[in-house]
Amino acid sequence: MDNGAANAGADTIPRNVVVYGVVITRRSVLLAGAVAAPFAALAQQQQAKPDWGGPILDIHLHPRDQEDGEIAHMVGCGVSNAIILGTAAEQERTKGRMARAPGRMKFFASVNVTRPDAGETLRKAVKAGAIGLGELKSQVDCDGPEMRRIYELAAELQVPVLLHFQDGPAGQVFNGGVRRFGGILKAYPKTNFIGHANSFWANVSTDAPADVAYPSGAIKKGGVSDRLLAEFPNFYGDLAANSGRNFLGRDPDFAARFLERHQNKLMFGSDCPCRDGAGAGQVSTEKWIRDKCVARETLAALKKLTTPAVFRKITWENGSKLLKI
Ligand SMILES: [Zn+2]
Ligand SMILES: [Zn+2]
Repeated sequence: MDNGAANAGADTIPRNVVVYGVVITRRSVLLAGAVAAPFAALAQQQQAKPDWGGPILDIHLHPRDQEDGEIAHMVGCGVSNAIILGTAAEQERTKGRMARAPGRMKFFASVNVTRPDAGETLRKAVKAGAIGLGELKSQVDCDGPEMRRIYELAAELQVPVLLHFQDGPAGQVFNGGVRRFGGILKAYPKTNFIGHANSFWANVSTDAPADVAYPSGAIKKGGVSDRLLAEFPNFYGDLAANSGRNFLGRDPDFAARFLERHQNKLMFGSDCPCRDGAGAGQVSTEKWIRDKCVARETLAALKKLTTPAVFRKITWENGSKLLKI
């Protein structure tokens, strides 16, 4: 266990939290052991909740099927605030859940960018409260006409764009061509971009193989993601998912220097599908996250690889500044 990953006392229990549809108040948790068995189980979950030493912003959480599953995940892994990345159609349901956990969540809006009404849908979503566009994951090139329209819209609406970069075999390419992305960053200086996923992280190394989603072993410095983060003030990185976790684990010495170098450009995200913030229902069998909560694993890795000040920037300050939280 890393420092800070141990337990939190009752004083860190938020005032009103809904877990599995049950409102937990600070008082009900304190009384749990003495009162009722179901509350005792919930209290135990609270006891095991990690304390990361300050507020944590997860910039990459998808809407849950389970009622109030978003806040259940956050509470379970010690995340105080989250950005919910859903489609414009999921917005109303997300808003209902946000209202039951005031001040804890904001949302981005995504859309299939090949639809002719994609721009209009996103424009409406931002008017209705979305603070970013994403995650955008359509089968297009990152510098094709569909995405260029989105970049222009994002600049006009003054919201960032979060992209899933994935090169690979036909049918599995999303925002293809990350190695050409410098041209876009130069062409759209007023748009803020957040990079994420397999090809963004694999291309920190110069030898990223196009057919391996999660490369292992030593990183060869000078990869395109690393260079673009250094060169362009409008480019940020999202550490979510197995792609981010694998990057942190495959070459820890390199990762520690990378986190230090880009300490003002990186943001913690989980993209975790687990139900309880402790690994229940994790479907991935990838070695870093098998049976585990991605949020917990990534936060633990970040804690180990950074100074407390850099950890704070990556898990809170950078995201709250960029997203004006
Ligand atoms: Zn993604
Ligand atoms: Zn999780």
